[in-house]
Amino acid sequence: MQELIAGAQELRISLRAEHLDALRTYQHQLIEWNKRFNLTAITDETGIQIRHFLDSLSCLLALESGENFAGKRIIDVGTGAGLPGIPLKIVCPGMKLTLLEATAKKTHFLQHVVDELGLEDVTIIHGRAEELGHDPTHRQQYDWALARAVADLPILMEYLLPLLQVSGRALAQKGESAPAEAHRSDYALKQLGGQIRRLISVDLRGINETRYLVLVDKIAATPERYPRRPGMPSKRPLISE
Ligand code: SAM
Repeated sequence: MQELIAGAQELRISLRAEHLDALRTYQHQLIEWNKRFNLTAITDETGIQIRHFLDSLSCLLALESGENFAGKRIIDVGTGAGLPGIPLKIVCPGMKLTLLEATAKKTHFLQHVVDELGLEDVTIIHGRAEELGHDPTHRQQYDWALARAVADLPILMEYLLPLLQVSGRALAQKGESAPAEAHRSDYALKQLGGQIRRLISVDLRGINETRYLVLVDKIAATPERYPRRPGMPSKRPLISE
C-alpha cells in the first residue's frame, strides 16, 4: 500500500490503519475475481492503488469547507467493481451509499465485497440509471450523484441529475476532455436543471494525465420526461445543434 499512502499524502488525504486494511482486502478481492471475470482492465497492485483507489478517493477534494459525506445519501452510477463508491465508503463510513450497476455479474462482486468488508448502509442495485431515475424511491432523493468512466458528460447528466434533490450535487470524474465536455453540456444542463459549479484538476502520483472532478449543482427540478428510456440518452445526447 506504499504507493497509495504516498499518493494520498500528496493530496492531503489521511488514511488510517483500518482504511488501509479494508483497501488491502478490496484489492485482494478485485485481483482474485478478475481471474474469473473481467471486472477491470487494471490488475496490477500499483495500478489498483493509484488509478482505482487514489483516483476514487480524490472525490474528497470536492468537499468544501465544513462539508462532509457523513449522513449524506450518495449514489454511484455505473459503479462497475465499486469505483469510486467503495473506497469512499471505506474512508467515510457514515455515508448512505447506493451502488448502481447495469451488469449483474458486477453486482454479485459488489455484494461479496460489501459483505467481506462488513460495510453498513450500502444498497446495491442491478439496473440502469434511465430506469432508476423514474423510481420514486430514488428520483430526486440523493445529496450526491457520482460517476467515473460511464459516459460523455451530456449523457451522464441525464443519468445523474434526475436522481438528485434540488441543491444536491453531481460529481463526474473525467480525464483531460473535461473542460470540452463541460462546454458541450450547456444544453443538457439547461434541460435537466443543472449548473456547472466548478472543475477541479487533480494530479495523481505517477500519472501524467491530469484528472478532473466536474461538479454540477442541481438548481431546479428535472422535468418528468427525463431521463428518457434506456439507451436514448446515449443514442440522442442532449446537445443543441
Ligand atoms: N465506475 C467504474 C470505474 O470507474 O471503474 C466502472 C466504469 S465502466 C467503464 C462503466 C460501467 O457503467 C459499466 O460497468 C456499465 O455496466 C455501467 N453502466 C453504463 N451505463 C449504465 C447505465 N445507464 N446505468 C447503469 N450502469 C451503467
